[in-house]
Amino acid sequence: MWRQLLPIGRDAASGGYRRFAWTRADSECRRWFEEQARGRGLTYEIDRNGNQWAWLGEPARGDAVVTGSHLDSVPDGGAFDGPLGVVSAFAALDELRRRGARFAKPLGIVNFGDEEGARFGLACVGSRLTAGALTVEQAHRLTDGDGVTLPQAMEAAGHDPGAIGPDPERLDLIGAFVELHVEQGRALDLSGDRVGIASAIWPHGRWRFDFRGEANHAGTTRLADRRDPMLSYAGTVLAARREAELAGAVATFGKIAVEPNGVNAVPSLVRGWLDSRASDQKSLDAVVDGVRQAARAHAREHGVTLDVERESFTPVVEFDHALRDELARILGGDTDLRVPVLGTGAGHDAGILSGRVPTAMLFVRNPTGVSHSPAESADEDDCVAGVLALADVLEGLACT
Ligand SMILES: [Zn+2]
Repeated sequence: MWRQLLPIGRDAASGGYRRFAWTRADSECRRWFEEQARGRGLTYEIDRNGNQWAWLGEPARGDAVVTGSHLDSVPDGGAFDGPLGVVSAFAALDELRRRGARFAKPLGIVNFGDEEGARFGLACVGSRLTAGALTVEQAHRLTDGDGVTLPQAMEAAGHDPGAIGPDPERLDLIGAFVELHVEQGRALDLSGDRVGIASAIWPHGRWRFDFRGEANHAGTTRLADRRDPMLSYAGTVLAARREAELAGAVATFGKIAVEPNGVNAVPSLVRGWLDSRASDQKSLDAVVDGVRQAARAHAREHGVTLDVERESFTPVVEFDHALRDELARILGGDTDLRVPVLGTGAGHDAGILSGRVPTAMLFVRNPTGVSHSPAESADEDDCVAGVLALADVLEGLACT
């Protein structure tokens, strides 16, 4: 399976993947999914929002056990983020058939569309639409960098955009959803475990900081006469790092806009975007409040005005405790084998679905922690351990 996926949407120069929603590379991935489903004798279908499903058994009773992930990528993404969950799903089914497992419940394998949001700027579009967390009107307004709207892109790829919308009947089919994903951090590498269970997705948000000063000549304006917003911004970046360290959280200024953006001009405006995530709401509030206070102090110090705007926010997602404990029991067995339970700062389709169906996640060790980069990696032995863990979980949840 990896050999077949390897060349699809791969950029020769960077070695990274560019599998954006409803592009040719995405269509090739989707064709691959359909072949894998049909090749295993599974019932294949595409739902109204373009997510692909492969069924073993008839899911009408509402107790289906579903696994899967996504096949699209960020710009120059790695090979594993997404595809590892889909490949492992098919491989786990193969393993269960090899074991002669008898299914008491229907099994579903899913490829959620447009998870990364690389093209239209919003993540998890396929699962959000299905869960009703994105309205049809909002979806119609999504536009890519070339001015192509989501409905236009769907139609060009041969999918009817007129059908998109909430799909509660489909969610009602699912008794449990388990997503396997490469870890996007080093927790398992540090603990020395191949596989872990997710506890929660951290609350996270984005805040825009506007520092307004006065544009002036970089050569003739005395330092004492300047109102330089870059200085306030620089102090704020350092404060964000400090606050995040204090709270055991993360905080990043990764995007900045400067006006007039001239080499020889003191800037009039520096606009920086803060992305911050923490394991709980209180820690996140502490970080953002701390950064805001520091920004205010630095602005005052340099005669600069400050506006802070929260642009987006996602509260903590706690995965279903009963299902999580069930996974720990299945993977831990009767022995004292400890399966690490870890939180994550990254969003997933499983997080979107968790509001509607019992949901859990398995993470596979990533030796460098690097993700959303061509350097993302996972050892073959760890990937096999992930497949076996997923097979154990599916067997425990769906088989007699
Ligand atoms: Zn992913």
